[in-house]
Amino acid sequence: MPELPEVETIKLQLEKFLKGKKIIGVEIKTPKSFPNDPKLIMGAKITGVRRFGKVSAIDLDNGYSLLIHLKLTGQLLVNGVIGPHTRVIINLEKGQRLIFNDLRIFGWIRVVDSGQVTADSYIKKLGPEFLKDLTLDRFKNILSKTARPIKIVLMDQEKISGVGNIYANDALWLARVDPRKPSRQLDDKTSGQLYEAVLEVLKKGIRYGGASDQHYLKPDGTKGKYQDHFLVYGREKMPCLRCGAKIEKFFLASRGTYWCPRCQS
Ligand SMILES: [Zn+2]
Repeated sequence: MPELPEVETIKLQLEKFLKGKKIIGVEIKTPKSFPNDPKLIMGAKITGVRRFGKVSAIDLDNGYSLLIHLKLTGQLLVNGVIGPHTRVIINLEKGQRLIFNDLRIFGWIRVVDSGQVTADSYIKKLGPEFLKDLTLDRFKNILSKTARPIKIVLMDQEKISGVGNIYANDALWLARVDPRKPSRQLDDKTSGQLYEAVLEVLKKGIRYGGASDQHYLKPDGTKGKYQDHFLVYGREKMPCLRCGAKIEKFFLASRGTYWCPRCQS
């Protein structure tokens, strides 16, 4: 699933390609993917793109915004090719278009009042975010209040928004923390190291344009490159990049979890 670095990359590219463009038509191939009246956005110009955790908001000049959640397999492509998994086509002036592909149909595009974006039922539940409003003190406070495994808390969007499976795995490895460790058992120093580790992997993810190990593509249709720099994610049975021990995989809350049994305990 696209996480903070992937959605940030999408935000930056969409802003570059779409800002100032007028919407002249909307084709909805799968109503579940776009449940609102497309007339609400007809003729409107795109003024900017915002990001909230893993959700993008495309702001229009008519008082509405498009909230977009890609979920597991969503793609937003500028001038991309229409295919069997294309759910929505937003036609823009001068023959350009924005395509929403989604193999599994869990993602969505919703039309909301621009002034109500932060009050939206999904957005308002999001916890604070790394690289935005999640301070170290707030991070430590969140961890101190729960005995749930640290990896699950890192990925709980209502506690902390933006971090998903890839970056949680890599940050825990970088900070040498066992993904199963009860959050409140992390001491002060380790919490600080984990906070820095998450920042580092997210920044690296953004620098490489996100991870295209599965469905994610950048809006220009090219792949991100973070998958070539995974620290532990996807490295089952390969040697730990730090100590050489064999990386193991197990499932935690049904998500693939990779760890080094020697340096993450
Ligand atoms: Zn190791």
